[in-house]
Amino acid sequence: MSTVQPDACIFCRIVAGAIPATVVASNAHALAFRDLHPQAPVHVLVVPRRHVASLATADDAAELGELLALAAEVARQEGIADAGYRVVTNIGADGGQTVGHLHLHVLGGRAMDWPPG
Ligand code: 5GP
Ligand code: ZN
Repeated sequence: MSTVQPDACIFCRIVAGAIPATVVASNAHALAFRDLHPQAPVHVLVVPRRHVASLATADDAAELGELLALAAEVARQEGIADAGYRVVTNIGADGGQTVGHLHLHVLGGRAMDWPPG
């Protein structure tokens, strides 16, 4: 799914500026803002500007590239690029996805555990 859902979707509302978020970076296709409940010293979400439900239904390779490029830019900007960081996207129920708008988590500022829970 890749329609605009400005009222139904919380991340569409953030993209539209209808609810506040701490935006740290953006490009033509994507917006990066701080997670409301950070799980690491740096925890930024990178979302496509248009509504895409998850990676499972993403259909635009250029858009996905822009998301990854912005994630790397955020890491550089946040000063975690040299130490290392994690980029993850949760998909569906077993993946632990709680917001149905595709997003990359950029996590860093501490050592990450592996395997994830
Ligand atoms: P998921 O569990 O779907 O992979 O990740 C959703 C993330 O969105 C969670 O880390 C959660 O803290 C974050 N989140 C949920 N609602 C909001 C919100 O209104 N604003 C911001 N900035 N983050 C949110
Ligand atoms: Zn949305």
